[in-house]
Amino acid sequence: MRVELEALTGISAEHFTFLKSYHIQEALPEVEDMRYAVNFTQFKLNEHVFLAGDHQLNASINAAMTSGRLASEALRYSLQAPL
Ligand SMILES: Cc1cc2nc3c(=O)[nH]c(=O)nc-3n(C[C@H](O)[C@H](O)[C@H](O)COP(=O)(O)OP(=O)(O)OC[C@H]3O[C@@H](n4cnc5c(N)ncnc54)[C@H](O)[C@@H]3O)c2cc1C
Repeated sequence: MRVELEALTGISAEHFTFLKSYHIQEALPEVEDMRYAVNFTQFKLNEHVFLAGDHQLNASINAAMTSGRLASEALRYSLQAPL
């Protein structure tokens, strides 16, 4: 943790004091079907509806943003040629 804090803050690890850690049971759900990427065509529901959100990939902010990018790509390609 101290090394991570050093990398994040640029402050030498020696200045951080470890106090305590907590193990929190079931803090996050176990995901069996973890998806990081799917074909962008799957974000198009129909001609007028494009889907974006963590439900498309996995429950994380990164996945939510990735799905937004892929949905916009699906829209862009859809405007160019039928998917
Ligand atoms: C307790 C908790 C801790 C988390 N911790 C982390 C973490 O540490 N790191 C991480 O990466 N992810 C974490 N996540 C997951 C992350 O927050 C979500 O995966 C991400 O916010 C999903 O973004 P989203 O835009 O897909 O959906 P959301 O953020 O859920 O946004 C959907 C929005 O749509 C709105 N909405 C819903 N229905 C309608 C409707 N009918 N009309 C209009 N608006 C509607 C909702 O009000 C909401 O504002 C955590 C989630 C929870 C619950």
